[in-house]
Amino acid sequence: MKVFEIIDKLGKNQRAELCEYAYLVANIDSKAMEYAREKAVAVRKKIYGNTVFVRGLIEISNICRNDCFYCGIRRSNKDCQRYRLTEEEILECCDEGERLGFKTFVLQGGEDGYFSDEFLCGIIRKIKKKHKDCAVTLSLGERSRQSYATLKEAGADRYLLRHETADKEHYEKLHPAEMSFENRMKSLKILKGLGYQTGCGFMVGSPYQTPETIAKDLKFIEEFSPDMCGIGPFIPHKNTPFADKQAGTLDMTCYLLSIIRLIKPNILLPATTALGTIHPNGRELGILAGANVVMPNLSPVSVRKKYELYDNKICTGEESAECKICLENRMKKVGYEIVTSRGDIRKDEENGNI
Ligand code: SAH
Repeated sequence: MKVFEIIDKLGKNQRAELCEYAYLVANIDSKAMEYAREKAVAVRKKIYGNTVFVRGLIEISNICRNDCFYCGIRRSNKDCQRYRLTEEEILECCDEGERLGFKTFVLQGGEDGYFSDEFLCGIIRKIKKKHKDCAVTLSLGERSRQSYATLKEAGADRYLLRHETADKEHYEKLHPAEMSFENRMKSLKILKGLGYQTGCGFMVGSPYQTPETIAKDLKFIEEFSPDMCGIGPFIPHKNTPFADKQAGTLDMTCYLLSIIRLIKPNILLPATTALGTIHPNGRELGILAGANVVMPNLSPVSVRKKYELYDNKICTGEESAECKICLENRMKKVGYEIVTSRGDIRKDEENGNI
């Protein structure tokens, strides 16, 4: 069967043709999923064993200048109660994270004009000073080259910027005309060039996505070689133009996690909150498909519900400590162990010959 051949080839060469990627996606079935999953898990085990890295996610603001059609915190959503954490609150979240044993803090938010370089640099420096061996990851959207450079200089280690889709026409169906595919892609290249550990990613099952657009995403991952890749199912949000669109599926997300693991054996691949939202065991199944990162929420409980990118987001009621224990137990149940190391990407030279 051709699907198996392509998966074998991926396992061997870590690459495939665009039409082969599209074929894999178009011909997903339970046997293909199982085959990709087994290979992906074997590859991941060889490099990362049964360890899962944790990243403490701090949602620092839901104020956003952008109007992405899929996103619940888009500027046109007038029903969204806006908030922005103070510097003190952000630092408190990190202190709590440290108590819980986290060594990576992810500051994520909308494109909030209040976050000047000066403000962010101050926070980054304070976090790095107080939590000596931790990593700071930023996920604050598109900024200028100068800004990315300044934030790096202040101590930021990693940057997550999902490319959302590697197909320009598709990108334009997901975003208003004022947003640019070229700038998104350019930003990712700048981040990588500046020495950030860089993460891209996309939503699975976003409106107008096709096997061909996913093939381009996979090709992009193959060629760009990101350190991290965030993928999760698209889930509609009631106050967006995509309110009536269908959500992405658990199966396709897990299948793509396996495929991405085969393309980039070392990649840091989270089992996302969105995956946990569409299925009660989504995150466990993501890990069992080849993911190796989980991102428990460290945001103050008072703002959790307000950072609603999509409907029915999980983990909005629990304290951070509960979230951590819950995830730890979930991972244990499926034979994996959360570790508290910084969890940097393992480079090829550390793996011997894989
Ligand atoms: N402003 C930052 C952070 C965005 S939120 C940035 O631009 O990078 C992080 C990610 O959530 C987005 O990149 C998007 O892929 C995802 N997301 C947004 N709305 C979603 C939805 N309705 N369903 C699933 N994922 C969504």
